[in-house]
Amino acid sequence: MDLLWTDFLNSEWHDWRGSGRTDDRLDNPQWLKEFLETWKLDAPVPPDAGELAALKEFRGCLRSQAERLVSGTIPSDANLRELNRVMAGGPVIRQISHTAEGRQLDLLPFKRDWAQVMAEIAASFALTLVEGEGARVRVCANPDCLWVFYDDTRNRNKRFCDDKSCGNLMKVRRFRARHQGSTGQPGPGPEGRPDGGSK
Ligand SMILES: [Zn+2]
Repeated sequence: MDLLWTDFLNSEWHDWRGSGRTDDRLDNPQWLKEFLETWKLDAPVPPDAGELAALKEFRGCLRSQAERLVSGTIPSDANLRELNRVMAGGPVIRQISHTAEGRQLDLLPFKRDWAQVMAEIAASFALTLVEGEGARVRVCANPDCLWVFYDDTRNRNKRFCDDKSCGNLMKVRRFRARHQGSTGQPGPGPEGRPDGGSK
């Protein structure tokens, strides 16, 4: 399941097929526009140099916090202070509205800038800490991928960001490792497609 904060972390893209290629999508205005649109946020694109540096620094902090969760460590006081500091940069407006089921109360972003966007991302992570389950946060089991996701499956056994891409690739690798030297034949599967996948 994609959350605002996992989507943000995954802007640091690693080639899951193992070429070693990486792509920082925070440098890509088109990606940023789609990211803001998806999460109903607004800020000037592209961000200026200072904002971009702040975004990348925050992403680094958030990844290390996510990795703590993956390893089963609870957030430190310093982690919470960092989240509070970033959330303070984005005040909200409270708004009640009718829905099909009744009424709902929303917290709407107050500003249209990158500090506000970072505050919303920090709040999304904070909500996972408060309402979600830290033990459901995963890093894809393909070591080349590093995709971060929230496992909302009933059995809590989702190991790969995508079974069709990473899951299949790892299956092929396991097959090859098992049969290495025995037949010299490659295993089945689509490993190494030069342009496969657009995740
Ligand atoms: Zn993956």
